[in-house]
Amino acid sequence: MISEREAVDAGNVIGGERREAASGRTFESRNPARHGDVVGVFPQSSSADVDDAVAAAQRALGAWRSTPWPRRGEIILTAATIMEQRKEELARLMTREMGKVLTEARGDVQEAIDMGKFIAGEGRRAFGETVPSELRNKWAMTMRQPLGVIGCVTPWNFPIAIPSWKIFPAIMAGNTVVFKPAEDTPLCALRFVEILLDAGLPAGVVNVVFGDHEAGDAVVRHPGTAAIFFTGSADTGRLIATTCGQMLKKVSLELGGKNGIVVLADADLELAVEGALWGAFGTAGQRCTASSRLIVASAVLPQFTDELVARTRALRIGDGLDDAVDVGPVINETQLNRIHGYTEIGVDEGATLLTGGEMARDGDLAEGFFYTPTVFGGVSPTMRIAQEEIFGPTTAIIPVDSLDEAISAANSTQFGLSLSIYTNDLRVAFRAIHELEAGIVYVNAPTIGAEIQLPFGGTKNTGNGHREAGGHVLDEFSEWKSIYIDYSGRLQRAQIDTDAQR
Ligand code: NAD
Repeated sequence: MISEREAVDAGNVIGGERREAASGRTFESRNPARHGDVVGVFPQSSSADVDDAVAAAQRALGAWRSTPWPRRGEIILTAATIMEQRKEELARLMTREMGKVLTEARGDVQEAIDMGKFIAGEGRRAFGETVPSELRNKWAMTMRQPLGVIGCVTPWNFPIAIPSWKIFPAIMAGNTVVFKPAEDTPLCALRFVEILLDAGLPAGVVNVVFGDHEAGDAVVRHPGTAAIFFTGSADTGRLIATTCGQMLKKVSLELGGKNGIVVLADADLELAVEGALWGAFGTAGQRCTASSRLIVASAVLPQFTDELVARTRALRIGDGLDDAVDVGPVINETQLNRIHGYTEIGVDEGATLLTGGEMARDGDLAEGFFYTPTVFGGVSPTMRIAQEEIFGPTTAIIPVDSLDEAISAANSTQFGLSLSIYTNDLRVAFRAIHELEAGIVYVNAPTIGAEIQLPFGGTKNTGNGHREAGGHVLDEFSEWKSIYIDYSGRLQRAQIDTDAQR
C-alpha cells in the first residue's frame, strides 16, 4: 500500500529506466483537498527528454510490432489483472492526487481494467479481410499494421482511465508510445506505466515523460512521433491540430463539452433530478461529459428547480477519502478562480444564482480548492454560462416551452459530446435520438457514464471526427495494408485485362 502521506520522488521512465529531466528541473504534485500534502516530485521535462523517449520508443518498435498479437494481448490482460488486484490502492492514490471521491476513483480504475480486458481479446481477433479479386489466379487481402511511435497527451480528470483508453489499444496494435500525462496527476500515470512493466511489457514500448505544455508540445512536434492522441481542452486541441496539420501527422482530438439534459413534462421527475445531480456534480463537474445545462419544460420547471436546489444544498463537500463526502475539491487554484469567474459572468448576464456560487472555506476546506455546487436559473441558451465549458460544479437551468425549442437549445453550442433526454414517450425519445447533435445520446440517464465497448467521442468542436474505445477502436491505432498476390505467372493488368476474363 502507498502511504497516504508519503511523497514519491519519481523520474521519467525511458527505455525502462528511471531518468531525471536533462535540465534537472522538477515540479510537485499536490493534493487538491489539502494543498500542503505533497504527493510527489517529478521531472519537468523538455524537448531533450522527449528526444530520448522517442528514441527509446523507436528502438523498441521493431521487436514489439513483430511480437505476435495474442502475446501482446496476454501482457495487456496481465496488466488489467494487476490493476484489479491493486484497485483500492490505485483509487486511494487517485483521490489524494486528483480529488475525486473514492467511489468515483474506483470507477476510473475500473474503466481502465475494463478497457484492458476488452482490448486484450483483440489479440486473437484483429482480423483482416480476404477480398475477391477481379482477375483470375490473384489473391487479395488486408492486414493491420501499427502506425509507429504514438504520442499520447492526456488531462488530469480521468488520470488512469484516459491514458488506458489510448495506451492499451496503441500497444495492442503493435505501436510504441511516448506518454505525456497531465502535470496535475503524474503519480497516477507513473503507477499505470509501472504496472505495464510489471505485466511483462518490454522496456521502451511505453515511455513516460512528465512535465507541462512544453513537454507536450515537444511530443507533438517531434518528427519521430507518427500520430498524436490528445484529450484536453479545445484551445490546446487547436494548437496541436495546427502543428500536426503542417506536419501531415495523424491526430485524434477528444476535446471539451457543454452537455445538456432535456427534461420534458412527461418525465419521471425524481429520476431526472437524480440524473441531473449526478451528471452536474459528479467529479465536481470536471468531466468532459458533465451535465452543465439542464433544459427543462416550463410545465415542470418550478418542481424540478425546487427539488434540484434542495438536493444540491444537501451535498456534502470535502476530502474525497471521507466516505461521507459527495463532492471533492476542484483540481487547482487556477481552476477554482476560473469557476468562480463564471459565477460572476452568470450573475452579470442576468441569470439567477439559485444556490452555491462561492468558494467553500469552512474549517478544513480552507486547506484545499473547494467550490459550492452551483445552480443558475433563468438561463438563456446564448448566455456564456450556457455556451462555454466551465469544468466545475456549475449547472444552468434553461427553461423551454416545446420539444422543438428543447432540441434546438440542446444543439445550440459549439460542442457535441453528450446529450440526454428524460421522457416516457417512445416517439419523442426516438425523435430526440435522431435530432440531438452529439456523439453520445442518453435516454432517461444523465450525460455521463460511457461504457468502453461503445465508441466514445463527439461531433462539432468536441473533436476532429475520431472515436476512442468501442469495437472499431483498432481502426484509430492501426493502418490497413492491402496485399495482392498474383499467382497466374503472367502480367495481369487490373481494370484493363478484366474484360477479357468475363
Ligand atoms: P489542457 O488542454 O490544458 O491539457 C491537457 C494536456 O495537454 C496536459 O497534459 C497538458 O500538459 C498538455 N498541453 C497543454 N498545452 C499543450 C500544448 N501546447 N501542446 C501539447 N500539449 C499541451 O486540458 P486539461 O485542463 O488538462 O483538461 C480539461 C479539458 O479536457 C476539458 O476541456 C475537458 O472537456 C477535456 N476532456 C475531454 C475529454 C474527451 O474525451 N472529450 C475527456 C476528458 C477531458
